Amino acid sequence: MTIAKRMDDIPFSGIRKIFEKVGAMEAAGHEVIHLEIGRPDFGTPGHIVQAAKQALDQGKVHYTSNYGISELRKAVADKLRDENQLEYDPESEIIVTAGANEAVFAAMLAIVEPGDEVLIPCPCWPTYFSCVHMAGGNPVPVPVNLSNGFQLDLNNLKKKIGPRTKMLILNSPNNPSGAVYPKEIIEQVAALVQEHGVFLLSDEIYEKIIYDGASHISPASLPGIKQQTLTINGFSKAYAMTGWRLAYVAADKELISALIRIHQNTVSCATSFAQWGGLEALVGSQKELDAMVMEFERRRDLVYQRLRVIPGLSLAKPQGAFYAFVDISTLDISSYELADLLLNKAKVAVVPGEVFEAPKQSWLRISYAASYANLTRAMDGIEKVITDL
Ligand code: PLP
Repeated sequence: MTIAKRMDDIPFSGIRKIFEKVGAMEAAGHEVIHLEIGRPDFGTPGHIVQAAKQALDQGKVHYTSNYGISELRKAVADKLRDENQLEYDPESEIIVTAGANEAVFAAMLAIVEPGDEVLIPCPCWPTYFSCVHMAGGNPVPVPVNLSNGFQLDLNNLKKKIGPRTKMLILNSPNNPSGAVYPKEIIEQVAALVQEHGVFLLSDEIYEKIIYDGASHISPASLPGIKQQTLTINGFSKAYAMTGWRLAYVAADKELISALIRIHQNTVSCATSFAQWGGLEALVGSQKELDAMVMEFERRRDLVYQRLRVIPGLSLAKPQGAFYAFVDISTLDISSYELADLLLNKAKVAVVPGEVFEAPKQSWLRISYAASYANLTRAMDGIEKVITDL
């Protein structure tokens, strides 16, 4: 009796290992500052919670359409039209999913054949790799570098395109680098995927968490590539709703008719009352979102100013999301050892990582989804641990 061979390619998440260590420290009575987390530290805005409670009270507790409630799909279509210049038919071109994670998984299963290659700018959210593997495909990392602020390098990308390339994943604003791809880069990518007949999966989950007046471009809005593009977005990050498991995917009818069959046979529908909360998130007040982003920007400034002057650390100023991505390659220690040291000595939890391709690079991902006071204390601790190395 053996489990499937494919599981060899699907590791436990690195963050989970950190959670376990942190859990053990906290159980032993230590207070740890959590800079490893990938979720807003704010609560879901009250009016969204109220809408979901009301849905429960009204008995909206049964299966919904596999596509999601029509009110929410219509609101998503309006949002995509008004904010992203995208026209999608809410009846046949939008699916409400149980998180962006499910949408990525469904896209892979519906599109990728065994042996197909999926290009992924790296470092990246590791789930992309696992989803490609689950579909039997091969993830192909496309390295991005600190030297150009982690922008996608078109030459690197072109070198990786081959006869088995089926899809390219774009994630802007980016986890973990904080890069936001400007229009010129997206236009060049669009031309490339069009020329090579490659699907484009655009993960726009951090769309709203963007700084310095930068603007987010949805690739599908560029001429000529809408049919081969899947736009994924959701509620987790913008509205602090990670536990609600609510997101959506918009794509051409043909693609959606494939994805809906994966969705139908795995989760059936997103949670009914969560969908009513999602509707309120889109059509209700955006005041709390705006305040959250302003606070993230203030913390981004603090973390960036503090980290950039610590000898041995290099980073680009994040333009979006809520992570500082720090290159520690010049230090004589691996990122895993340094993360352990930070946890043991400074009681600060961060995510370590190493880059796949030469030259070898070591990184720490430091989330600023923590209070300003805790971030200040954490920066003091990180500075001390690194200067004492
Ligand atoms: N996409 C990226 C780039 C992420 O970083 C995450 C979560 O960390 C997700 C998607 C998952 O979003 P959801 O909670 O909607 O599944």
